[in-house]
Amino acid sequence: MRAWEVRAPGPIDGSPMVLVDRPPPEPPPGQVRARVSVCGVCRTDLHVAEGDLPPRRPNVVPGHEIVGVVDALGDGASRFGIGDRVGIPWLGHTCGRCAWCRRGDENLCAAPRFTGWDEDGGYAEHAVVDEPYAYALPRRFDDDHAAPLLCAGIIGYRALRRSRLPPGGRLGVYGFGGSAHLAVQVALAEGARVHVLTRGLQARQLALELGAASAGDTADAPPEPLDAAILFAPVGDLVPVALRALAPGATLAIAGIHLTDIPPLTYADHLFRERAVCSVTANTRRDGEEFLALAARIGIEVTTTPFALDDADRALRALARGEVRGAAVLRVDP
Ligand SMILES: [Zn+2]
Ligand SMILES: [Zn+2]
Repeated sequence: MRAWEVRAPGPIDGSPMVLVDRPPPEPPPGQVRARVSVCGVCRTDLHVAEGDLPPRRPNVVPGHEIVGVVDALGDGASRFGIGDRVGIPWLGHTCGRCAWCRRGDENLCAAPRFTGWDEDGGYAEHAVVDEPYAYALPRRFDDDHAAPLLCAGIIGYRALRRSRLPPGGRLGVYGFGGSAHLAVQVALAEGARVHVLTRGLQARQLALELGAASAGDTADAPPEPLDAAILFAPVGDLVPVALRALAPGATLAIAGIHLTDIPPLTYADHLFRERAVCSVTANTRRDGEEFLALAARIGIEVTTTPFALDDADRALRALARGEVRGAAVLRVDP
């Protein structure tokens, strides 16, 4: 099968990935194999390719927003049948035994495995998944539009919940890519007023089309104080900027897996009056099930920019430059 491997993590312009031909994986016991139809392109893939995330598997195949059709079953796999459509997400395995798993916070598992980092992912014609971690996907979404739900959507949803946005509250969103454009639709459906702050003119236009009350540059202050904010851009410099925009008692949730350094904060300017900052780490399967059901119910509109599998490196370069409208997806099996 054709697959992209991260050969030598480094700057994306230096071609850290190569397209190779390798045998398709055989599903071990408890796993299923999917013939990949579409794989979403997530900023985390860029972090894996560039080495911002330390390599955990040599020559790993990136990609963790995988939509495909089951074409082989490992021993004992019974949840899905041959021909079923499945989604393969970032959270690939948890131990089920550590304190966090036992209390329902499997996103914080002490020994997790992630698709496209610890396990080979979906920038390839086949991928395998531990059956309990795959999702059945709502029929409402075709493969192109289902793929970005699997990480951009689910993580954005968890970030929104972590921001503790009160009903009818004012939400600030810093950065507006694949994840933000989905989270904002959940917030709007739940009655929020949304202010988007992002560099990209195209992104600002999409934000307004989706119903944001305002869209400005990250250097601008939002037009009113925020009851909650989410930082989607991987830019630590924006943490103090967003904290200053918060109303008393509000929370800033940082959605990314990687962030550049945060400049020094001042207690009085950034945190006093019970302003809070929290990170968002992966997601639980329950987050995923909740979000997919909600996305189908409210009819989330997924904006995608498609690329061919052969152009995966070009897709990541476009993402790095902020040139993708909505979410980029690779059409593996057009
Ligand atoms: Zn665990
Ligand atoms: Zn992701």
